[in-house]
Amino acid sequence: MDKIKNAIRTIPDFPIEGIMFRDVTTLYSNPEAMKEVIDLTCDYWKNKGITCVAGIEARGFITGSIIANTLSLPFIPIRKKGKLPHDTLSQEYQLEYGTATIEIHTDAMNKNDNVLIVDDLIATGGTAVASIELIHKLDAKVSGCTFIIDLPELGGKKKIEDKGIEVQSLCDFEGH
Ligand code: AMP
Repeated sequence: MDKIKNAIRTIPDFPIEGIMFRDVTTLYSNPEAMKEVIDLTCDYWKNKGITCVAGIEARGFITGSIIANTLSLPFIPIRKKGKLPHDTLSQEYQLEYGTATIEIHTDAMNKNDNVLIVDDLIATGGTAVASIELIHKLDAKVSGCTFIIDLPELGGKKKIEDKGIEVQSLCDFEGH
């Protein structure tokens, strides 16, 4: 786990003052640390009946697609509004200032699916909870969520666990 945490770079005051931006590009460029991310994640979820992996744009696409391929499962993209070309369902959610919308293809999954949601980091949980709602709109079940980084002070992980959904995170950082 130290190998993973040490490979993540922190940029203070990005994109705005007061945010400690946890930059995973330095992790993605470190094959040894990335192997640990994929091994820890796939070992944890491999026998839990997952049928597909949904990655959240954009950083969730990188680990999400490797995890899906390693587990021999389909990869499903959850994208920002207006990017997916076929019929979509949308979910709006609250940001600190304003709102954002994410979308999924209507034929991406069905009621028989048990989905693993993947993103790089969980903060307030707004993005992940919106993703859960989107998947529920397709009548599929969310079996779990996995993140490389948790910011425990922001309470997102607890918000998801309170819904009865299992959450894995590989390292914690203090603050926002
Ligand atoms: P939230 O919806 O509040 O849980 O925020 C999660 C999303 O915002 C993830 O997709 C992260 O990539 C991004 N994010 C939030 N806070 C940070 C941070 N301190 N450093 C890097 N990314 C962040």
